[in-house]
Amino acid sequence: MSLVGIVPAGGSGERLGAQRPKAFVVLAGRAMLEWSVEVLERVCDRVVVAVPEGFEADDAVPGGASRSESVRNAVAAAPEADVYVVHDAARPLLTEELVRRCVDALAEGVDGAIAGAPVTDTIKHTDGQGRVVSTLERSALWAVQTPQVFRAGALRRALDADAATLAGATDDASLVEATGGRVDVVDARIENFKVTTPLDLRMAEAVLAERC
Ligand code: C5P
Repeated sequence: MSLVGIVPAGGSGERLGAQRPKAFVVLAGRAMLEWSVEVLERVCDRVVVAVPEGFEADDAVPGGASRSESVRNAVAAAPEADVYVVHDAARPLLTEELVRRCVDALAEGVDGAIAGAPVTDTIKHTDGQGRVVSTLERSALWAVQTPQVFRAGALRRALDADAATLAGATDDASLVEATGGRVDVVDARIENFKVTTPLDLRMAEAVLAERC
């Protein structure tokens, strides 16, 4: 079975306010992207990265206009895969153990297995103007992360969508769900958080420094 890691790293990362794309910001001594690629290489046969213009390298493809377009470009470059392991460069605290648990969760009849953590905040639905419409039942809610592991056919079918659909997707599993795929959640640690703000960067640095 051929396992291919896909790393969307083509974003600009404006919310981080750094001088370079987020995936290339230096974190505990190396580019943020490298932390994830190193872990994926221990589990996968090959890792393909989608990068912004000017950051081309071996086994890298151009990033797309949206995150899902970046994933689609990388998937197209690795047609030999039986299973894709998609992981955002913005989650540098990935562990080999979590990747393996997601791969193992691809049981018969399951198209995707995705890392997530039970929500600890109360989540409210609003009308867009700040007025609360309803309070969601927290016990059923998960904050979803990456890695997201998919059977190759299910992910390729899901990514065969127009640019607007791809731009509206905040993860790949939602596209697989929309095309009728079954997706299961794998309980991941909260430490696998996404680096979005300068505070996240400081926290990730602290965790990685402790690990080294
Ligand atoms: O912006 P956000 O943190 O949601 O991005 C998640 C991941 O998707 C990041 O690793 C980012 O580099 C990647 N991305 C991409 N192509 C884009 C936008 C985001 O590969 N056009």
